[in-house]
Formats: sequence, C-alpha cells, structure tokens
Amino acid sequence: MKNLKRETFSVPNGWPILLLGILITLVLSLYLRHKDRKQFLLQFEHETEQAMRRIQYRMERYESALIQARAFFHSSVIVSADEFHEYFQETQLMERFPGIQGMGLAIKVPKDKLKHYQVWPQGNRSEFFTILYLDPINERNNRAIGYDMFSEANRRETMIKARDSGQSAFTGKIELVQENEINPQPGLNLYVPYYKKNAPLNTIEGRRKNLIGFIFSPFRTYDLFNEIFKETNLNIDVEIFDGNDLDPKNLLYDYNLVPEYQNPHHKFRLIERMNLFGRTFTFHFVPTPLFIRQSQSLMPIITAIIGFLFTLLFCRIFWITKRQMEISKASEETLSTALKVRDDFFSIASHELKTPLTSLKLHTQMIQRGIKQNDPTVYSQERVNALIEQTDKQTQRLERVVDDMLDISRIKTGKLTIEKDFVNLSDLVSDVIARMTGQFQMIPGGAPRLKLSKDSEGFWDPIRIEQVITNLLTNALKYGNNKEIDVEVSSLPNEVFLSVKDYGRGISPEYKEKIFNSFERAGVSASEISGLGLGLYISKQIVKSHGGEIWVESEPGKGSLFRVKLPRKA
Ligand code: ADP
Repeated sequence: MKNLKRETFSVPNGWPILLLGILITLVLSLYLRHKDRKQFLLQFEHETEQAMRRIQYRMERYESALIQARAFFHSSVIVSADEFHEYFQETQLMERFPGIQGMGLAIKVPKDKLKHYQVWPQGNRSEFFTILYLDPINERNNRAIGYDMFSEANRRETMIKARDSGQSAFTGKIELVQENEINPQPGLNLYVPYYKKNAPLNTIEGRRKNLIGFIFSPFRTYDLFNEIFKETNLNIDVEIFDGNDLDPKNLLYDYNLVPEYQNPHHKFRLIERMNLFGRTFTFHFVPTPLFIRQSQSLMPIITAIIGFLFTLLFCRIFWITKRQMEISKASEETLSTALKVRDDFFSIASHELKTPLTSLKLHTQMIQRGIKQNDPTVYSQERVNALIEQTDKQTQRLERVVDDMLDISRIKTGKLTIEKDFVNLSDLVSDVIARMTGQFQMIPGGAPRLKLSKDSEGFWDPIRIEQVITNLLTNALKYGNNKEIDVEVSSLPNEVFLSVKDYGRGISPEYKEKIFNSFERAGVSASEISGLGLGLYISKQIVKSHGGEIWVESEPGKGSLFRVKLPRKA
C-alpha cells in the first residue's frame, strides 16, 4: 500500500522531463526536415539554372554558326549550291551540335524575277523570300526548297524584325514545311539577316534596301531540346512554351512530365522566362518524383525515433533513480522506527521486569533483616500470608511479561498454536473474573457488572480466549480510573460477542486502530501505568486466528467499549 502510494506520486514528477524531451525531439526533427527542404530547393534551383544555361549556350552556338555562314557568303560574289553544301559539311554542325535540322539560305525574290525561281506557294504578295539552299540535302529538307517564308505570318514577322534590327531573330512556334505528318513536332526558325557587302546599314531604310535574304536554321523542338538535355543528368522535368504563358497551345516541348506535376499548384514548380533572339520562352520546371524522394532523407524520422527512445530511456532512469531514493529513504525511516521500537521495548521491558523483581527483593531483604534481629513478628501468620500474597502477585506479573514476550515471538515467527475445543464463553468469562477477584476489589461493587448469555458456545482455543478476556479485563482495570466495569456476553445464531466496558480515560480517535499494533501504548508512559503495549496486539492475533474481529468504541474521558466477535465455528 505504502509502495503504491509512492509510485503514484513519483510518476507525475517525471512528466515535465518527458514533455521536454518530446518537445526537443520534435523541434530537432522539424529543423532537420526544414534543412532538407532548403537543401532540396537550392539543388532544384541550381538544376533549373543549369538547364537554362545549356539551352542558351547551345542557341548561341547555332547563331554563331549562322553568322559564320553569312561571312562565308560575303567572302565570294556568288556561292553555288555545291559550295554551300561543302561549307556546311565542313562546319560539322550536325555532329557537333545535334538537334538542328540544318542550315539554309532564303533570298529576297522581287516580283518580276519570280519566273526565274522555284517559289511556292504562289500568290499575290509584294515580297518573296524563297528557300534557295537547305543543307544537309535529304528528303525532308528538299521538301522545303522554294518555300516562300514570307507567305506565313509568324515567319514573316520574325524576318521583318531581323531585317529591320539587323539582329538574329527566333520565330515563335511554327510548323516546319519539311515536317511529316506521322510524328509531327513543333518547329522554330532562327534567322540571321544577310545584307549586301559594305552597304550602309545604320538606318532601317538602309537595312531594308540592302537586304539580300536570311541565313537560317530550322529546328524541331523535341529533337532540339532532347539533344540538349540528353547529355545532362538533370533531376528535373520541364515544359517549354513559346511566349509568356503556360498556354498548352504554345507548348514547344515537355520532358518526362508526369501528369500529377502538370497541376499548376504543385508546390515545387518553378517558372522561368528566357529571352532568346528577341523571343520570350517560358519554362515550367518541376523536380522528378525520384529527386523529391531522394531529397527526403531519413534523418528527421531517425532523429525523431532516437530522440523519443532516448527521452523514454532517460525518464525511465529518472523514475527508477527517484524510486530507489524514495525506497532507501523509506527503508531508512523503517530502520530508524524499528530501532526506536527496539529501544522503547528495552526500556519498557526492563521497567516491567524490574518492578516486580525490586518488590520481591525488598520483601526478601525485610524478612532477612527481621530474622537477623530475631523479630518474632516475621514468622507471624499475618506477615507470612502477606509475603506469600505479594510474592505470588509479583511472580504473576513477571510471568505475564514473559508470557507476552513469548507470545509475540511466536506470533512473529508464525508459531502461535491454537488448540480448539467446545467452549462456553460465559463460563470462561465467569472463571476469569473469579480468578481476578483480588484485582477487582478497587472498583465499586468489587466486581464487574455482568450480563451473560447462556447460549454462548463455540469451537475455540479455551486458553487463548481466556488470554483475550484477561487482557480486556486487566486493561479495564488499568485504564478504567477505578470505576465500574460492565461485561456482557451476547449471541447470535452463528456468532458470540464479548463486550468489556469501562468508564475511564478513553482513547483518542487517532489511536483507535494503532493500539492493536505491537508495542503501541497510545502515549501512556510506563511510569504512569505499567504495560508492554502487547496485550491488544496478541488479543487481535488470537481473535483473528479464530476468524473473529476485535475493535474499540471510545470517547476520551468517557471510557472505552472493547468488543470481540467470535464465529461459533471458524
Ligand atoms: P498495555 O496495556 O500493556 O500498554 P495493551 O496492548 O493492552 O498494552 O494496550 C495498548 C494501549 O491501549 C495501552 O497502552 C493504552 O494506552 C490503550 N488502552 C488499552 N485498553 C484501554 C482502555 N480500556 N482504556 C483506555 N486505553 C486503553
């Protein structure tokens, strides 16, 4: 009971530590998670930058190839198709920078010269820019020869921009004329304006007037961007749009994009814009699922688990240590109580033994002195009787102390024997009272008032029950202030009751239970009233071993009523 109480008190004291541990673990794992996330976002941004740098680098290479080709055209008056073919092969453009469809020359054909050129589609237009050369020579590129690029709005607009600005220009999304229908891809054209050599080009008019045509390159967007990304090991998926928006109509390219990331609200997407040769392209980047998975390290979870286990372990050690300290404190207390009980017992026991011994010694010395002085009264009947009576009284007292001490040792070692027989409790009470007649002389009437039921038979140990009766009557005499004593034996079909009532000092409520413990004297000192504090303890053990009960009803200053209940058959 005591231990249980201690445990329920010790556990709540550990809660703040447990909570603190969990809190620290939580903060730590959230911090690690946050760090992971930051690292991941940095890596993601770095990859998108890398992807865009690659595109820019590659497009600049294409442009410089076109500018070099322009220089080649400038270097001679007329460049034949074969010469251009040879030049193109030497550039090794297709091998060094795959993704390009080729390189060509489109020249301005005035209306009146139309008949000298193969031009399609025919139509009533003021200017024609027909494709004259387009290398490498293959079936696809051949399909484009003669195509008037001014016939289509997007191309026309871009060519005008290039012509007027003198700068390279990119078309938006177009459909290449060489595109076959089986596996179509969006297209892009890059134009470099080609003017007459040494012509004044510092005004728009000058540039318009002196334009010969365009060196250009067509691109199939999937071929182009696949080639660019092929060499890289990027962990990102990308969509590329012509223009400023993520408009599916203007989609030029999508790489690996899994549907769930097409959701524009995806938390990790990054949208970037790039201006390339006068044209804006929009990039929609998302990390690959693998990249996301790899970036989510197990560290925060492992930290959380280890932290939690560590907290539990720490709390456990804390609780165990605390408990052990409490137990050792309790055992210290128990030990010191035991030592005090032992010391008290020695002082009480020695007092209890010493008093009758001293009395016996005094009597013996008195007689010895009388004999020495030849005092004849020493041998008188009266003195001899008094001596015998005193000796008997003190011997009985000694016997009682020794008996009590023997009993307690039997009880503590579990050797208190009970030998049952048929006993009449009322008869037993009468016998004890008769034996104690001398002691009752102090109280009014010289004997207790009796009320004894005839039907008071039971199967008990007569000697032990007698011990209980004697103890209760002795206590009534000791603590009853020499007032009346009432003794009653009553009965029920299965039980017999013994009540001993006195009108003496009574017992304060705090001692009502305690007086049944061994060596408990309820604050009465040995010099005030002699006693070992064992009688009620022994009585309780005897009653208990008969399956009965013993208790007290009392009011301080008004007396006590001790009651014993004994089942007829235990
Ligand atoms: P002892 O009488 O030897 O001290 P007991 O075990 O018989 O030992 O009683 C224990 C204590 O109970 C006594 O010391 C006394 O304080 C109290 N007590 C017992 N009987 C009575 C009583 N009839 N009236 C008042 N106090 C009593």
